[in-house]
Amino acid sequence: MFAAKVIFRKPIGQGSEAVATMPQKWLPRIDRDYCQGCGRCVAVCPARCLALVWSYSTLVRPADCTSCGACVSACPERLIAMTWESAAGPEDIGVWRKPDADGS
Ligand code: SF4
Ligand code: SF4
Repeated sequence: MFAAKVIFRKPIGQGSEAVATMPQKWLPRIDRDYCQGCGRCVAVCPARCLALVWSYSTLVRPADCTSCGACVSACPERLIAMTWESAAGPEDIGVWRKPDADGS
């Protein structure tokens, strides 16, 4: 399971064009299946947007993530990777991009 996964449902009445133009944010994806719950990634996050939920690291406030990547290097198990995720939130916080025409 990936904590950073953002579920996006198309608004009723809109086609695939809406998905293709959804902005994407550079966010950590955490492989919670192997998380040891050590809390190191939570401790280093300067924006306090990670938390242990049921002893698994979870991106609880993606809108506050600054895309700094500090959590990636903090994990001794290498369970965190930065990926582009469809997201909503203030675009002056973190790194954003418009997706490609195919929505990737
Ligand atoms: S990328 Fe930076 S701000 Fe975002 S969750 Fe990781 S440590 Fe926190
Ligand atoms: S540093 Fe790695 S193992 Fe430790 S809580 Fe974070 S994701 Fe889990």
